[in-house]
Amino acid sequence: MIELQQVTKSFQIGASWSQVLAPIDLTIDKGSLMSIMGPSGSGKSTLMNIIGCLDKPTTGQFLLDGVSIGSQSDRQLAKIRNEKIGFVFQQFHLLPRLSAWKNVELPLIYAGMNKRERQERAYSALKRVGLVDRLHYKPSSLSGGQKQRVAIARAIVNTPSIVLADEPTGALDSKTSESIMELLRELNVDGATIAIITHEHEIAAKTDRTVYVRDGKIQEETAS
Ligand code: ADP
Ligand code: MG
Repeated sequence: MIELQQVTKSFQIGASWSQVLAPIDLTIDKGSLMSIMGPSGSGKSTLMNIIGCLDKPTTGQFLLDGVSIGSQSDRQLAKIRNEKIGFVFQQFHLLPRLSAWKNVELPLIYAGMNKRERQERAYSALKRVGLVDRLHYKPSSLSGGQKQRVAIARAIVNTPSIVLADEPTGALDSKTSESIMELLRELNVDGATIAIITHEHEIAAKTDRTVYVRDGKIQEETAS
């Protein structure tokens, strides 16, 4: 369902171009749970941004459910993202002035859904991550783990088929990380395809497949 064929990515810095991803071939099966490891600056987030349709390959093909992403307009890309992909980030990226409930409702506002349905869906998503008792809390009143749960609720509120998490436990202690990982596993069991960037071997060990990125190349792959 996710297929990269000879994908490269280069960024222009001033007058010169720097190639961040060497030609990458990668297939990710529907319903799989994978981790992406590798040193800082190796291209993990760049790769994830392509998989998440936040960015397009410079050359090569990226196919998502058979659709070639490189030829889509920005508007079409936004639509694909909205329908298919949920993102989770290390620093949670919650809006500080909004309650947990409102934060989770936001993607549905962008999707043009009516208020009643938005609130119901956001409520179910927060229930799914175990936070119905924190609906009205603002991010500053939540623990790190709770903030990440709100961010995960926001990521799944559109019932995406793919959840991409860029170092989701990077800001959390190990016990909290474990429970966040447990939640991601549950979402995978429920059917979502999940890719997690991590520096932690304990996290990678809980996924079904680990891919290593070094200098923009997929260097090594092990079944874990
Ligand atoms: P990782 O997530 O593995 O730490 P990144 O994918 O964020 O690495 O970055 C890989 C390399 O690409 C880095 O050298 C970074 O500076 C560069 N890079 C990433 N995004 C951009 C951008 N938008 N413009 C220019 N350079 C970028
Ligand atoms: Mg990164």
